[in-house]
Amino acid sequence: MFTKKKEQCLHCKTILNDKEATGAVCTHCKPKEAEIYQKEICSMSALEGEFSRLWTQCQRCQGSLHEDVICTK
Ligand SMILES: [Zn+2]
Repeated sequence: MFTKKKEQCLHCKTILNDKEATGAVCTHCKPKEAEIYQKEICSMSALEGEFSRLWTQCQRCQGSLHEDVICTK
């Protein structure tokens, strides 16, 4: 069985139809696409920033570069 992953609108999480699925947002959100992308990128880089901060801190407190991040703060 071939099951196609349902694409969701990046912004409002509406299931995209076949035509809309070529993009990342639904037709309703299309006019705001650039703005939405900007926000997504911002939140992703914020997460990455947080992770690398933890990572650096963890390497320091474990004294090892080869362990998983175990610190949560
Ligand atoms: Zn949408």
